[in-house]
Amino acid sequence: MPLTPEPGTGHVPPKTADFGPSSTDPCAASPAVAPAEGAGWAPVALPMGASAAGRPDAASPSNAAPPLRVVFLGPPNAGKGTQAAMLREKLGVPGITTGDLLRREAASGTALGLRVKGIMESGGLVDDATVDEVVREHLRQVDLRRGFLLDGYPRTRAQAETLAGILAAAGPLDAVLLIAVPEEELLRRALARGRSDDREEVVRARLRVYREETEPLIGYYRRLGLLREVDGNQPIEEVGRALLAALEAHPV
Ligand code: AMP
Repeated sequence: MPLTPEPGTGHVPPKTADFGPSSTDPCAASPAVAPAEGAGWAPVALPMGASAAGRPDAASPSNAAPPLRVVFLGPPNAGKGTQAAMLREKLGVPGITTGDLLRREAASGTALGLRVKGIMESGGLVDDATVDEVVREHLRQVDLRRGFLLDGYPRTRAQAETLAGILAAAGPLDAVLLIAVPEEELLRRALARGRSDDREEVVRARLRVYREETEPLIGYYRRLGLLREVDGNQPIEEVGRALLAALEAHPV
């Protein structure tokens, strides 16, 4: 598969990664969420200097925290890409964004690329086998020991199981961050960017696919004691703070 290794994932970097001072009370930053059913939850050690309350120092050689392995979960237009890019910069952890990898594949002009492009434009999900291959290929080029933030993967139960297999060697996930946003707000955000009926149809298709295929992963990861939910219906910086707090603190 013609995938070019690329350090970045194509996300537009945020204006600033400085979340500034914030409350360290996770209850203040997170919405109500059902308690984790799994018993395996433990606070995550963030790299030195990267906390909800302070500036990051991801490049610091004294950064001795263990690598973070994090999955971002949430509906389309929840802000996962923006937040993943901010957190990646703040924590100094490489990111993998399947939407970007697949867009690159789609632009390659190969038969596979054309097929992927058609699926993406329809709002559907690219088939698990193709996505798994793209992700495996990319992860081979990434030093998993540095940790990673996955954005847009897994999106199906089968992908989650593939990921568990891939990680068997690298170590288990530390956390799954769910950015929760009400559907009306997601629609509003999406439609504010495009106008045609076509666009609305695709937006609704994406939301339906999310509900049917991806939402069940919330329960899956909750049962594993990994889920941390954050309210994504607030300003970008607040969401960023809440995500850091959710990584550090016990879920409410
Ligand atoms: P995103 O930029 O994450 O919204 O992804 C854009 C499109 O890429 C999605 O609507 C899907 O068609 C496809 N895609 C991204 N990630 C996946 C995945 N993990 N599984 C299947 N399709 C995906």
